[in-house]
Amino acid sequence: MSQSTEFIDIKRRNAKERPPVERVNDWSEYQQPFTEKKLKQQASRCMDCGTPFCQMGTILSTGTSGCPLYNLIPEWNMLVHQGKWYEAFQRLAKTNNFPEFTARACPAPCEGSCTAGVPSEPVTIKSIEKAIIDRAFLEGWVKPRKPLRKTGHKIAVIGSGPAGLTAADDLNQLGHSVTVFEREDRFGGLLMYGIPNMKIDKKYVERRIELLKQEGIEFRANIHVGIDLSIEELQQNFDTVLLCIGAEQPRELPIEGRHLKGIYHAMDYLMTSTKHYLDPDVSCDINAEGKKVIVIGGGDTGADCVATAIRQGCKSVVQFGKHGQLPLERQPGNPWPENPAIFSLDYAYEEALTIFGEDPRQYFIQTQSFVGNDQDEVIGLRTVSFQPNTALDQTENYWDADLVLIAIGFEGVKEDIFPTIQRSQKRIATVTNSFQTSQDGVFAAGDARRGQSLIVWAIQEGKKAAIEIDRYLASKEIKQTV
Ligand SMILES: Cc1cc2nc3c(=O)[nH]c(=O)nc-3n(C[C@H](O)[C@H](O)[C@H](O)COP(=O)(O)OP(=O)(O)OC[C@H]3O[C@@H](n4cnc5c(N)ncnc54)[C@H](O)[C@@H]3O)c2cc1C
Ligand code: SF4
Repeated sequence: MSQSTEFIDIKRRNAKERPPVERVNDWSEYQQPFTEKKLKQQASRCMDCGTPFCQMGTILSTGTSGCPLYNLIPEWNMLVHQGKWYEAFQRLAKTNNFPEFTARACPAPCEGSCTAGVPSEPVTIKSIEKAIIDRAFLEGWVKPRKPLRKTGHKIAVIGSGPAGLTAADDLNQLGHSVTVFEREDRFGGLLMYGIPNMKIDKKYVERRIELLKQEGIEFRANIHVGIDLSIEELQQNFDTVLLCIGAEQPRELPIEGRHLKGIYHAMDYLMTSTKHYLDPDVSCDINAEGKKVIVIGGGDTGADCVATAIRQGCKSVVQFGKHGQLPLERQPGNPWPENPAIFSLDYAYEEALTIFGEDPRQYFIQTQSFVGNDQDEVIGLRTVSFQPNTALDQTENYWDADLVLIAIGFEGVKEDIFPTIQRSQKRIATVTNSFQTSQDGVFAAGDARRGQSLIVWAIQEGKKAAIEIDRYLASKEIKQTV
């Protein structure tokens, strides 16, 4: 940025990762920080181009392009390059409530749309974001901000994932009194019990919850709203209710042998593993140790299962995908600034390659049936491999397995415990842009409303829902005064 050709003269560098052979022996984060000198250099690759696609999050044909939080990326790149870290933190905190989570686990659609990526390689935006927020915590710049005034309005937020936490944060800063209700024993939603510790260390989730508590938000765990407490009961004590209950209903694979022991949904597996990690007294009922593991589903949840199974000491691990391997480079039908649909070696695959000598991904595979033994335990799977657009016959295969994890996505909201709230395609239906559900005073945001998505979208949803709730409360006040 100080000269005009740094995006070509300086090569993009990715932040270092701990060697796979070392990191598979523990559950600590695998990403490592850049040195300050490297960071300044990498930040200087930003061209501060007139139309920063990186910060203009939107959906294009291959998914998210740019940052859905409209993070002020070129601004903080420049500030980091100039060594103005505090100012960079202030710019980052303006748009992103929880950069410590996105900087660790966001797939960085900002980088896919970075203009420097057209002639060269994109700026390493996510690593710069991580350096800013990690430094801000280290320097003590992230302090509890107590709201200066109270409005007297009370809001119940159901669910403590990134959508619920963001809405709670913004509503609290607006002066409303916020209580977060969570079904689980710990707060954070999928940040706590979905994404494994090696991607987001749970101490960072707990650190943020502690800050939010110090800012005045009340947190209540182990309360299953809809079962322990109805929405109507909540409405008697709160002015509005916001449902941020996620999209936890897993997609099912109703094929022969599904009833067999040893077949689980990925989320049950990942949750058990993290609960055991955080509290070794909690037994790890679903454990890959010494087992031949098959993960069905080629997405990121499946990748997290692969990495978890390796850490538990599995005998082998294979991941089935219905689609083919992605190309190594952008294809003509996938131009910039679309998110590049290209092959990458995610952390889990690099680990499998190191430990077992091969990438665990198998492409174009469809599972036909599960095979069991006399004790009704799974011992294998029958599959067909197919080659789309060719006349080749399908190939039938048999795979040994004694632990099968189904990771083929999520359908929508889990239980039908809110009968008065309308749904649409298994999501909570809301009036366009107002986040209002079919029940007056009840709002919804995050995965529950938009379907299973990303942390960055959940934060955006939480922010927008907070604005709409504030508007709703203000309009109610006006009506009462007239
Ligand atoms: C395994 C896995 C890995 C992922 N990895 C990534 C990643 O690396 N990067 C990324 O950007 N995204 C990732 N995602 C997606 C991301 O985690 C979600 O999009 C995001 O967490 C959604 O936030 P949310 O607040 O809407 O819901 P959630 O995070 O799902 O939180 C919902 C919360 O509501 C609580 N709840 C539900 N019902 C009730 C009730 N009736 N009463 C009280 N509480 C209730 C739940 O216990 C939960 O805590 C991943 C998802 C999964 C499943
Ligand atoms: S939140 Fe995600 S998309 Fe936005 S700047 Fe950070 S890494 Fe990029």
